Amino acid sequence: MSMVYNFSAGPSVLPEPVLKRAAAEMMDYKGSGQSVMEMSHRSKVYDEIIVSCRASLRKVMGIPDNYKVLFLQGGASSQFTMVPMNLLTKSGKADYMVTGQFSGKAYEEATRYGEINLIASSKDKNFTYIPELDPAKCSPDADYFHICYNNTIYGTRFNYIPETGDVPLVADMSSCILSEPYDVSKFGLIYAGAQKNMAPAGLTVVIVRDDLIGSPMEKIPAMYDYKLMADNDSMYNTPPTYAIYICGLVLDWITESFGGLEGMKAHNEKKAAVLYDYLDSSKLFKATVQAPYRSLMNVTFVTGDEAKDKAFVTEAAKRGFVNLAGHRSVGGMRASIYNAMPIEGVRKLTDFMREFESGA
Ligand SMILES: *Cc1c(COP(=O)(O)O)cnc(C)c1O
Repeated sequence: MSMVYNFSAGPSVLPEPVLKRAAAEMMDYKGSGQSVMEMSHRSKVYDEIIVSCRASLRKVMGIPDNYKVLFLQGGASSQFTMVPMNLLTKSGKADYMVTGQFSGKAYEEATRYGEINLIASSKDKNFTYIPELDPAKCSPDADYFHICYNNTIYGTRFNYIPETGDVPLVADMSSCILSEPYDVSKFGLIYAGAQKNMAPAGLTVVIVRDDLIGSPMEKIPAMYDYKLMADNDSMYNTPPTYAIYICGLVLDWITESFGGLEGMKAHNEKKAAVLYDYLDSSKLFKATVQAPYRSLMNVTFVTGDEAKDKAFVTEAAKRGFVNLAGHRSVGGMRASIYNAMPIEGVRKLTDFMREFESGA
């Protein structure tokens, strides 16, 4: 079998040791005589899986005791609605920074539920940077302040944590969670679709401070109520059982292979530098993001010639480097190099880019 290097933005590459372990446990999970996919979510054997995944996530991310960890469905996109439905109930005001397409969607969705202030946007330069925060623009009585920490489509990330005082900071971390340590106590709520850096699609993780749940909007759908989900340990209904199991294996892999998120970060920085250093030296390819805001996870670049971009993506795929086309809305190229992308994959990609450049 010949494997490819998969640079997809999501669903994306999973660690090979995780896939191998899942394969080994596929037909008979630890002597249970069943696959994890087939288990009742209420069974004792499955309970151990979800309990240990939750405990591992708490340990790996250093999540303080006064935060709940929820395993939900509906993708990060459902959080665009769930966040306002649960949190926008005191002043009815929230502040948003728009630094890309997903935070734009989150902002649009929130405007249906209250008074939403657009604090800053990087649209003026096609989302190639992260704006500074002007505290004078912020609403001191906002129910929360929303950002997207890593912008998957544009390849930018925050290089600072906005100082919001007593206003809870809410962050979409879909494409950067587990890539480096974050001080969870600086956030009121963190959410992530798991299909970038945690697990296969189907699982959405929410980490939320206790005091922020329990006073949702009236008539909130039961499935959207954080409190109900928390009170039921994410088992109000059937959780995405198999994705949670894989998430547990991914967390084990981070601990065993990198010793935790500090090690993961060091590895990711080294990996991203291989690509960015080459891009900065290349005469053909050019990184699209200003240096201080470059994502460790999604590396965007162009040649400046659309036809050449297309030729590169096609040629790369033939050589086993797949899913390098930029998002359909921006074009160019994007190499998503999540935790599970081995450094050899990035080295070989840059070797191929050099070769392409010399022939171009
Ligand atoms: C992928 C992504 C989303 C959308 O996630 P879904 O799970 O498909 O709803 C939202 N925000 C960010 C930052 C993403 O990378």
